[in-house]
Amino acid sequence: MTAEYTCITRKIEVHLHKHGESEEATQRFKDEYRIWDDINNNLYKAANRIISHCFFNDAYEYRLKLQSPRFQEIEKLLGNTKRNKLSAEDIKVLKAERKLLFSDFKKQRQIFLRGGVEEGPNPEQNSTYKVVSQEFIDVIPSEVLTNLNQNISSIYREYALDVERGIRAIPNYKKGIPVPFSIKQKGEIVLKKREDGSIYVRFPKGLEWDLNFGRDRSNNREIVERVLNGQYDAGNSSIQETKNKKRFLLLVVKIPKESRSLNKERIVGVDLGINVPLCAALNDNEYGGISIGSRDQFLKVRMRMAAQKRELQHNLRHTTTGGHGRTQKLQALDRLEGRERNWVHLQNHIFSKTIIEYALKNNAGVIQMERLTGFGRDGKEEVQNEYKFILRYWSFFELQTMIEYKAKAVGIEVRYINPYHTSQTCSFCGHYEKEQRISQTTFVCKNPKCTKGKGKLKSDGTFEGINADWNASRNIAKSTEFVDKKKK
Ligand SMILES: [Zn+2]
Repeated sequence: MTAEYTCITRKIEVHLHKHGESEEATQRFKDEYRIWDDINNNLYKAANRIISHCFFNDAYEYRLKLQSPRFQEIEKLLGNTKRNKLSAEDIKVLKAERKLLFSDFKKQRQIFLRGGVEEGPNPEQNSTYKVVSQEFIDVIPSEVLTNLNQNISSIYREYALDVERGIRAIPNYKKGIPVPFSIKQKGEIVLKKREDGSIYVRFPKGLEWDLNFGRDRSNNREIVERVLNGQYDAGNSSIQETKNKKRFLLLVVKIPKESRSLNKERIVGVDLGINVPLCAALNDNEYGGISIGSRDQFLKVRMRMAAQKRELQHNLRHTTTGGHGRTQKLQALDRLEGRERNWVHLQNHIFSKTIIEYALKNNAGVIQMERLTGFGRDGKEEVQNEYKFILRYWSFFELQTMIEYKAKAVGIEVRYINPYHTSQTCSFCGHYEKEQRISQTTFVCKNPKCTKGKGKLKSDGTFEGINADWNASRNIAKSTEFVDKKKK
């Protein structure tokens, strides 16, 4: 497998684990929060110490430059080569001399950082670590300090040049910075699973951070499980405490760009429909499939919100004088519109998550959807109009975008296909004929030789038909008429 991967960060709420209800457990729980508070109360100080020290190390070298008359002279000469009438050869010689002085300063700086010792390993990062570990090792675990030192040192390197030029000052850290660490398979800080299925981060000093997935709209549990079973690696992560005393694990996960386990031949077709917002089926399975959401429920919520809106707008028209009442009503209208957007947004999150879960469960490597923009679905006017209505109210584009990025995060490819005839073709025999979709919900194949596309034979000699949305999803899954997401 290639080393190429994408990093994603997952934000998951965490709580310290309570080991039972006994007095002893309660005391331990309290003590552990005190340990955590100590870490938080000192971490930002350590960060400030590290960055000041980085600056101090640089300042030492800066001093050496200032105090060397020859270096200053060369800088002046090279600062204006024209006025100083320097030849190309002069410049070359001066630059070479300056380079020698540079390396001498660097050497002196290293001797200084080693405490006067002439030879030895490069003391740069070590020196800042030594400074903070002496001061903070009792309260901050060494794993955290090491990570902090690495992070702050690299932040400083980004700043250093600007600091020397006087453009910026060094950053200043305040309480509440994330507590950094790396999660490794066999490291000091690891993800673990208890027998009851709960997952926690084993932290130094006996702390166990329970992961609380909540409603888990963004599929975090799935991703954490994959870290646990070694499918994904975790990167440098952290726990951050917010001002209102909530704590979140910011878990960095490295996801391989090419996921080997998924079957690229198995395709999930997703139909965004009128009867059910979402229907999905597989290209190579004649039975399975899922449908999510219901049009009636969707319309009911929408209608209720629309009615509330109309009432507010009506009231507004009759409060033309302005003033406090009007402002309040406008705010209420804003809130209502915000709630409406949130509701659709949340539904889309749930739908997209369900589709990804379905694909993963079936080991499918590809998801296919219809291109939304500019389609006349089978040219059938009434269908088209109704579709337009749903489209106007449902942000299908947002839904597709969500499916797209969630698929990407787990290594599933997303393709768009031409929607033409997907609902009027039999997904079993491929027969296309108008009016095979005999109602919004039912499809009956008109090919006399087709056995599977008709459903059961009823006592009156007609056929029961098959689910029209499911049939369309299967056509989408099987289609090879690929198009861009948007019509050019
Ligand atoms: Zn058929």
